[in-house]
Amino acid sequence: MSEAKIKMTTPLVEMDGDEMTRVLWNLIKEELLLPFVDLKTEYYDLGLEYRNETNDQVTIDSANATKKYGVAVKCATITPNAARMTEYNLKEMWKSPNGTIRAMLDGTVFRAPIIVKGVEPYVKNWKKPITIARHAYGDVYKASEMKIPGAGKAELVYTAEDGTQTKELIHNFKGAGIIQGMHNLEDSIESFARSCFNYALDTKQELWFATKDTISKKYDHTFKDIFQDIYDKEYKERFEAAGLTYFYTLIDDAVARVIRSEGGYIWACKNYDGDVMSDMVATAFGSLSMMTSVLVSPQGYYEYEAAHGTVQRHYYKHLKGEETSTNPIATIFAWTGALRKRGEMDNLPDLQAFADKLETACIKTIEDGKMTKDLALITTMQSPVTLNTQDFIKAVRTTLEAL
Ligand code: NAP
Ligand code: MG
Repeated sequence: MSEAKIKMTTPLVEMDGDEMTRVLWNLIKEELLLPFVDLKTEYYDLGLEYRNETNDQVTIDSANATKKYGVAVKCATITPNAARMTEYNLKEMWKSPNGTIRAMLDGTVFRAPIIVKGVEPYVKNWKKPITIARHAYGDVYKASEMKIPGAGKAELVYTAEDGTQTKELIHNFKGAGIIQGMHNLEDSIESFARSCFNYALDTKQELWFATKDTISKKYDHTFKDIFQDIYDKEYKERFEAAGLTYFYTLIDDAVARVIRSEGGYIWACKNYDGDVMSDMVATAFGSLSMMTSVLVSPQGYYEYEAAHGTVQRHYYKHLKGEETSTNPIATIFAWTGALRKRGEMDNLPDLQAFADKLETACIKTIEDGKMTKDLALITTMQSPVTLNTQDFIKAVRTTLEAL
């Protein structure tokens, strides 16, 4: 590695977070970034204490900064619940920062596993990552529901602004039952589609999309039509020029194909499908601690993070002075993803090369048999060396310096 530190021209938006990942955040900067990169960041402390102190304004400021500069890197953060209200003496049960940021950037979340030899997918033919793109608005997550106590008629009613009504029978109930009304927005589906097409071009991967349009002839069919329309009008030529394809199929057919595939594509999912399938894919690839996540807005803003949370259980051990073996890989890859994107946008090949090199160092360290406990427990390697958090990060540094 050269003596001079790698220069940056535009700051990254740095969103610090909570608990064990906040501890990792500092270690990663100290050991793996600051010695090599003349790191330029605009720092926002999204740790719960400071969110509470600023009435969550800091989260909004950090999302606005992301719109200004284009690239952010985020540490995992606590989403407050009743227990956190007392633990942190909160003024209010602040919303999930990820939810706030996602709403402000109107983005789609892409999750992809980091693949290393020795941590084998449960699906034996999966060779390349499968990236799940989850639509983050509407459907069952913004539904209205009702319990039907007994016989009667249930209808969908739409009242236009001029008062005219359109009705659709749901069911003539003969006895008790349940109903649900859900919605989505054309704008949101269009943003979702554009984020997916952009990300496919960006990462040079095929895009798959699937719904249940044969059964849901208006709702799901609208998703299918919007994707096709935007593809034909705005992306077809660029996809063809890049040798990429957009592929639509039914969700049950997609599931079967995914299992039989080698991986190496983006699978766009409606909100609920994405929720379920991302956990399935993450688990099948081996470990949540090896899952990366990036929020991509249709305007081309990027926010990189790890898919896992703040690893609270490890943090409490850390606070008691006990040793932890927390896997920093997904958080390191959040940094490398952000640095590489910054490098691409600002035309800084050295910064991009550094990001590649640090990722290589992470993978090589594991493939050389040095890893954190979560991986040591599932690896097919014969006698892995289990390292604690600090020693694993130092091992990555040693590998990096030797590359
Ligand atoms: P978590 O932090 O993802 O951890 C769940 C368990 O998964 C851990 O206890 C640990 O298992 C294992 N694990 C996760 N990441 C690991 C890593 N890097 N290295 C080793 N093991 C890892 O989820 P949680 O404990 O349910 O949530 C804690 C907090 O995170 C919550 O306050 C939640 O709101 C927040 N959260 C934030 C985000 C985000 O900011 N994006 C996402 C999810 C959750 P063992 O304990 O068995 O070792
Ligand atoms: Mg889920």
